[in-house]
Amino acid sequence: MSHSSSTRIQEYIGDPVSEDAPVGREKLEEIFQDIQADLRYDHELNGCLNCGICTATCPAAHYYDFSPREIVQLLWTENLEGIHDAMQEKIWSCAQCYTCAARCPFGNSPGGLVMLMRETAIKHGMESAKSVLRPFSRVMLKLISTGNQLSPDMITPDGFADWGPNVSKIDAPLETLRKAIPMPTLHTTKTAWEVNLKTSVELYTIWEETGVLDSLEIIDENLFDVISDIMDEKRDDYDDWLDEQD
Ligand code: SF4
Ligand code: SF4
Repeated sequence: MSHSSSTRIQEYIGDPVSEDAPVGREKLEEIFQDIQADLRYDHELNGCLNCGICTATCPAAHYYDFSPREIVQLLWTENLEGIHDAMQEKIWSCAQCYTCAARCPFGNSPGGLVMLMRETAIKHGMESAKSVLRPFSRVMLKLISTGNQLSPDMITPDGFADWGPNVSKIDAPLETLRKAIPMPTLHTTKTAWEVNLKTSVELYTIWEETGVLDSLEIIDENLFDVISDIMDEKRDDYDDWLDEQD
């Protein structure tokens, strides 16, 4: 008598009522292996009692449909579908405060594991990563061009509508107020402080060598092109400055 060879493992995972394309098992395994392959993984996941202490102390869990306990359980039980599902939204709720890591009796770092999942989401160009990071493109541009993430001239009533009544404070005469600060490097509203050319160029090298720019290219190719042009210009300026010193 022959037995039919059947398996309970689904080849494709997908919500039957969703229009999203199902994700192949091979892809799910690839994503999980990328998370696991990171050197930090074994330090940040040592087992899980499912005690929920991490979730009880997690500020993000109070406000969002997010639980560090759930994230750790998904990874510990190698729930490939659940891991992929959490990477579509939940992992972006974590505030990276690491309260969970300080409290876990197993020495896990749920926040650290979330970071590995985020980095993997970026590596795989997931839509969740693109949409979460899109609002930061202006900050990235500012950082590349000035060395600062934020400058007083970026703080506008439109940009900070969530400040409510406090928005009146940003209508203050910032130019005048800044000129009253003793350090001359702060006498501008276009940068938070002045960063010299050499420091900027060194930062570009670090971002290139550590793969930050590769990640940016995956997430936003247009922004990557603009930023590459700015970096080239700044490097030329730095070379000119060096020539002048000779
Ligand atoms: S990660 Fe740690 S604190 Fe959270 S449920 Fe597991 S054992 Fe408990
Ligand atoms: S690091 Fe993330 S998961 Fe951990 S307590 Fe903070 S917000 Fe919660």
